[in-house]
Amino acid sequence: PSSDHPRSVTILGATGSVGASTVDLLSRTPERFQVEAVTANQDAEGLAKIARQLGARYAAMADEAAYPALKAALSGSGIEVAGGAEAVVAAAARPADWVMGAIVGAAGLLPILTAIRRGAMVAFANKECLVCAGALMMDEVRRHGATLLPVDSEHNAIFQVFQPGAAVRRLILTASGGPFREWSREQMATATPAQAVAHPNWSMGAKISVDSATLMNKGLELIEASHLFAIPEDKIEIVVHPQSVIHSLVDYADGSVLAQLGVPDMRVPIAYTLAWPERMETPCAALDLAKIARLDFQPPDPERFPALRLTRECLRQGGSAATVLNAANEVAVAAFLAGKIGFLDIERIVEHTLAMIPAQAVATLAEVFAIDAEARRYAAAL
Ligand code: NAD
Ligand code: MG
Repeated sequence: PSSDHPRSVTILGATGSVGASTVDLLSRTPERFQVEAVTANQDAEGLAKIARQLGARYAAMADEAAYPALKAALSGSGIEVAGGAEAVVAAAARPADWVMGAIVGAAGLLPILTAIRRGAMVAFANKECLVCAGALMMDEVRRHGATLLPVDSEHNAIFQVFQPGAAVRRLILTASGGPFREWSREQMATATPAQAVAHPNWSMGAKISVDSATLMNKGLELIEASHLFAIPEDKIEIVVHPQSVIHSLVDYADGSVLAQLGVPDMRVPIAYTLAWPERMETPCAALDLAKIARLDFQPPDPERFPALRLTRECLRQGGSAATVLNAANEVAVAAFLAGKIGFLDIERIVEHTLAMIPAQAVATLAEVFAIDAEARRYAAAL
C-alpha cells in the first residue's frame, strides 16, 4: 500500500486488544489506508469512536442489544450501521483488500470464512477458528486463492522466515511460560482470575491471558502452526523463553535455524501483515539486546501444564478432536473468569469433555458447528 494506492481494510473485533493495536497503526498513516468496515460485540461507544476516528464506511455490533446504542452514537455521521451476527458477516463480505480477524473464539469462524471466500488478504489473529475447523478452513483458503497472513506473534515470526518447499526439520514455538511459569500445582489450584490475567510480557484480552496461564494458548498455537505451515505435530517443538524476544524459529534440514526477534509489542506482527509484502514504520521501541543482556530457554513442564499433552493428542487424532477441545476450553475459561470454577478445573473440564465425545471425521461446516455446540453443552453441564 502507498499513498497513491491506499489499501482498503476491515477490522473484525476492532475494540479488543489486537483491534486497538491495529487501529493505532492505521491512525498513524491514514493516507495509506481506506477503512471499509469495523465490528465489535458489545462496546457500542468504543466502536463508534473507532469508526469516526478511522472514517469507516460501515460499523456493525454483533450483539443486537448493543445496536441501538451504536446507531445513536453514529447518527448524522454518514457511517452505515448494522447489528447482529449476520451484520458482522456482512462486514467481512464488503470489498476490503485486507481483513483483520481479531474476534475472540470460534464466533469469528463465519466472518473469517466469508473474507476467505472472496479471496481477500486475511490477517489472522483469531486462532480458535483454525483450532475449531482447521482442515476445512485451509481447504477454503486454497480453493479461493485467499492469503492468510499470521498475526499471532509466533506464527508471524515463522511466516517471516519460512521458505515454502524447503526441507524443514522442525518448527520451534517459543512460549513465555505465562504468569504461573514457576508455580506449583498446589499454588495453581488457588489462582484467581486477576492473577491469571496478569501476564508478565504481553497485555492481551482476558481469554487469551487465561490460556497463556494454563499454556492452552501454546497448545492452540501448536494446532494453528500445524495447519498454517502444513507441518505434522511431531515436528513442532515448544521451548519456554521467558523474555519473549525470540518469537519463534524454523530449523531447516541443513542445520540452519532462522528466527525473528523483536520487542514484545503486537504492533510489530500486525504491521508486517498490514504492509505485506512491503514493510512500514511503527512507533515500537527498538530492540536493545545489550540491555536485555540474556535470553533464557527451558523445556516446558507437561506435568504442571497438561494442556500441552491434550492439544498434541487432539492434533494426532484429527477430525473433531480439536473442535471439542476448543469449545470446552472456551466454556471453561469463561466460567473461570466468572468465578464459577477454579483454575485447575479448566483442564479437567477440557479433558472430560474430550473423553465423552469421541473424535469423528468432519466433512462439512455444519458438522463442525454441531460438534462445537455439543461440546459446549457438555462442558457447561460440567
Ligand atoms: P479481546 O477480548 O481483547 O477482543 C475481542 C474482540 O472480539 C472484541 O472487539 C470483541 O468485541 C469481539 N468479539 C467478542 N465476542 C464476539 C462475538 N461473539 N462476535 C463478534 N465479535 C466478538 O481479545 P484479543 O486479546 O484482542 O484477542 C483476539 C484474538 O486474537 C483471539 O483469538 C486471541 O487468541 C488472538 N491473539 C491475541 C493476541 C493479543 O496480544 N491480544 C496475540 C495473539 C493472538
Ligand atoms: Mg501467540
